[in-house]
Amino acid sequence: MIIRERIEQLERETLSPYAALSTNSRGRERPEEPCDVRTVYQRDRDRIIHQCKAFRRLAHKTQVFISPRHDHIRTRLSHTLEVSQIARTIAKALRLNESLTEAIALGHDVGHTPFGHAGEEVLHAVYREYDPDARFHHAEHSVRVVTALEREGQGLNLCRETVDGIGSHSKGRRGIAQVLERERPLTLEALVVSLSDRVAYLNHDLDDCLGAGLIRPDDLPAECVEVLGARYSQRISTMVSDIIEQSEGQSAIRLSPSIIGAVDALKEFMYERVYHSPPMIEERRRVRMVIESLFRLYMTSEDALAAAVGRVPESTPDRARAVCDYVAGMTDRYATDRYVESFLPGGVVL
Ligand code: MG
Repeated sequence: MIIRERIEQLERETLSPYAALSTNSRGRERPEEPCDVRTVYQRDRDRIIHQCKAFRRLAHKTQVFISPRHDHIRTRLSHTLEVSQIARTIAKALRLNESLTEAIALGHDVGHTPFGHAGEEVLHAVYREYDPDARFHHAEHSVRVVTALEREGQGLNLCRETVDGIGSHSKGRRGIAQVLERERPLTLEALVVSLSDRVAYLNHDLDDCLGAGLIRPDDLPAECVEVLGARYSQRISTMVSDIIEQSEGQSAIRLSPSIIGAVDALKEFMYERVYHSPPMIEERRRVRMVIESLFRLYMTSEDALAAAVGRVPESTPDRARAVCDYVAGMTDRYATDRYVESFLPGGVVL
């Protein structure tokens, strides 16, 4: 028996009946020769790390603080790694497929725009000016990145379960109960990543805000501190342990009502105090200036578009699609550099 078959056998013998077994995968869009050593989901995880340029660019994309100068502030990449760690802990405890979980987690945010959710909202709006039927959503764009944009347009050819998981986190401001009710991914592993995303961002964004002095420990709602804990590690641990305890041996992922209440209260607090706070709204105005200006530049200047993406699609919707893909792929600093170079006087080199 080769190594991969031994791992697959081990999955059958040890994983939960609700886990996604590698051998039951619905497969890839283009069939491939199996690997002797790794399962299909291990390969997906490795492919995102080794071959996905959008994954590497996450290091220079905003999580919450736009283009942070401080080296310890989270970026999209550190967020992604925290999601992956939390999701793997839960998957392992519930005897779900850890490799599939990790692959979904590592790929879940590769479709994020520069400048975080502010960038996403602005890109969506300007894209629709040129194609009213279009929409931009980061989870859908993550799927586009892994299926249609990476590897010069070939995509990464990931398994269907991995792609499904990457595309099925779109919670917005919804409460946890609604998320659990409305999200119906193909696998429990995908749901674990979706919840881990929220566990990770609420906790690390709060940690960044406490560290930056934007929030003081006394400001936190009493319910959050009482139920979830006073410290960063305690709060993550409370949430993760509850998910594990409530979901063990179940065909669904669950949380207890008191934890759902406290997590939702923390989320609302973060929206009010951070995500939709006046300084963030002011920052959004600047983000709009950069994204809209660049989008319009590439829509109106054939030279600029040809230099950027190497082609100029004929129809307006096709062109808007190409511009949207290009702008969405930018890192914060790349977008800022392009803006400075295109719209601010830089002197003439003689
Ligand atoms: Mg995320």
